[in-house]
Amino acid sequence: MYEVVCRGPEGRSSVTVTYPFSAVVGLDDLKLALILNAVSPRVGGVLVRGEKGTAKSTVVRALAAQLPAIEVVYGCRFSCDPAAPDPACPDGPHGAEAPGRTRPASLVELPVGASEDRLAGSLDLEKALTDGVKAFEPGLLAAAHRGVLYVDEVNLLHDHLVDLLLDAAALGTCYVEREAVSVRHAARFLLVGTMNPEEGELRPQLLDRFGLTVEVRASREPAERAEVVRRRLAFEDDPATFAERWTAQEAELAGRIGEARERVSRVVLPDARLLQIAEVCAAFDVDGLRADLVTANAAVAHAAWHGRTEVTAEDVRAAARLALPHRRRRDPFDAPGLDESRLDDLLGQDDPDPDPDPDPGPGGGSDPGSDPGQGPAQPDPPGETAADPPPAGTPGPDATSPDAEGPDSGEPGAGATQSRTAAPGEPYRVPVLSVPGLGEGAAGRRSRARTPHGRTIGSRVPRGRVRRLHLTATLRAAAPYQARRGRSGPGMRIRGTDLREPIAEGREGNLVLFVVDASGSMAARSRMRAVKTAVLSLLLDAYQRRDKIGLVTFRGAGAELALPPTSSVEVGAARLRLLPTGGRTPLAAGLVKAAETLRVERLRDPDRRPLLVVVTDGRATSGGAADVPRAAGLLAGTAAVVVDCESGMVRLGLACDLAARLGARLVPLDSLSAGGGLDGLVRDHRRAG
Ligand SMILES: [Zn+2]
Repeated sequence: MYEVVCRGPEGRSSVTVTYPFSAVVGLDDLKLALILNAVSPRVGGVLVRGEKGTAKSTVVRALAAQLPAIEVVYGCRFSCDPAAPDPACPDGPHGAEAPGRTRPASLVELPVGASEDRLAGSLDLEKALTDGVKAFEPGLLAAAHRGVLYVDEVNLLHDHLVDLLLDAAALGTCYVEREAVSVRHAARFLLVGTMNPEEGELRPQLLDRFGLTVEVRASREPAERAEVVRRRLAFEDDPATFAERWTAQEAELAGRIGEARERVSRVVLPDARLLQIAEVCAAFDVDGLRADLVTANAAVAHAAWHGRTEVTAEDVRAAARLALPHRRRRDPFDAPGLDESRLDDLLGQDDPDPDPDPDPGPGGGSDPGSDPGQGPAQPDPPGETAADPPPAGTPGPDATSPDAEGPDSGEPGAGATQSRTAAPGEPYRVPVLSVPGLGEGAAGRRSRARTPHGRTIGSRVPRGRVRRLHLTATLRAAAPYQARRGRSGPGMRIRGTDLREPIAEGREGNLVLFVVDASGSMAARSRMRAVKTAVLSLLLDAYQRRDKIGLVTFRGAGAELALPPTSSVEVGAARLRLLPTGGRTPLAAGLVKAAETLRVERLRDPDRRPLLVVVTDGRATSGGAADVPRAAGLLAGTAAVVVDCESGMVRLGLACDLAARLGARLVPLDSLSAGGGLDGLVRDHRRAG
């Protein structure tokens, strides 16, 4: 599905025709961000956030084709520049007279499921240890050097790949080390990632690595949509002919980019503008100084792109719009986006620039991500029954609101209205809930698992190629044979059969499926608030442990998969906030829905072990109480926790019965917020049959 695309004389896929950049309709922010990167590599890459099917990938590939060709040392697999070859190049050293050749900058795609070896390259340990030869097979980081590294669905990238990527991006070097053998080579590339925020957010460190972000969304303008489709169809019909029609525009664009690249080193950033950048960054409360640097670099590139040699307020505005939205985030529940009217206010102050004319692009005033209030989009209007999340709401003053509780007030239980939608309170730290046994799922921080990255607990004869070496075990295996192998001096004689690899144990992420009772028996306002707060806390915990999460709710006539398994905590939190409560309690339907969801997910992601978290008081008032045992039977073998929400003087202990049927641990709701160890709090539930 994914393949490295190396265009150019030696690339096998040089026949591939790329969609012309100039033919892309709309997506002005994305195009601008990519162009600024093409003009100045110091801008530092782009993260493209947006819904599926917005041609994000097409635009990125189109831009790569517009990057200027590069000169490389002939035969060097690491794309050394003949003018300044990498002194550490594994294919080097290249002499001053090394022959060079010109080829297009490469666009390398990093598949989400790539192995570490594929990304960083692999070292043949056996050869290194037995023959003393450093045999290195370059990875994608080498292929991307001086080009573009493109990661589609970057938010789904495994943790260990993210770490490698962060290191390489920070140092401009790829460093591969296996025991005593190491190789390093230059790896500087333009990092471009795309992601659908519904499927999960990025780790903050990785987010920060992207110079700019853009939000893309398909046009809601029928005429524009039609034009997109028209061109797309024409392209698919006959790519070569379509591309040919755009040759002139493409050449002009390449020329403009080339000129801007020339100009960029001459662009002056006046002190007044630099101060303005600092003011804007400070006002938007960004972390560190990286935002200032990126904004300055992007403003310089923007000036160069517009043919200026001095940065203006317009350049600062354009740069800030792209460089800041992802840096002012504070909390995984905050929505991204930048308050543009605030940006205008900030730039409007003591602005000596007479040119207030902003870019006429469609992204100008209609950005859906901009929220009018300055605060994070995390208000909890407790009286809200509307199905719409707050960002689209009104900027109107809250003082006149009839709602007794102010937004975002952390006070629980102060409800004044008869709303059926309780808002959760402040999340707290919950005890670790984990799946028993030893898994083999994706890296994470929840349950014990066999992983290549954890703590070494033993060694074994390698299965297949040796990637990591257990040195002590290897030496121990080789020791008895030294005399027979003719060793007479220092230095062990090691053969391939001596090699041992470590067995490591670490942590995996799980699928945490919440099954939340939203029925009338739970709907007492203060209780529902406590339940939502607990689930929100568990969600936050799942985010930190790199889990996938899902949400099944049941009330009234049946159960609903309110959130299909995803890595996006934001979406989970939003669904939870708006979750209405009331009605009868179809507990069995909730369990059946959970079983269905897990079955589908097992097919999709078989290594990810599920953890079921049932949040209920155990009452079943519809669907027949007899259905519960049958439904629970469908979940046999699934690790489960029942959060007991029963409260009050008279307790029926129904949640306890349910826990017994599911073979689940029972956790009283209150004990979740108590923090600390859980074991002492788990009641014995093995009394029911
Ligand atoms: Zn080289």
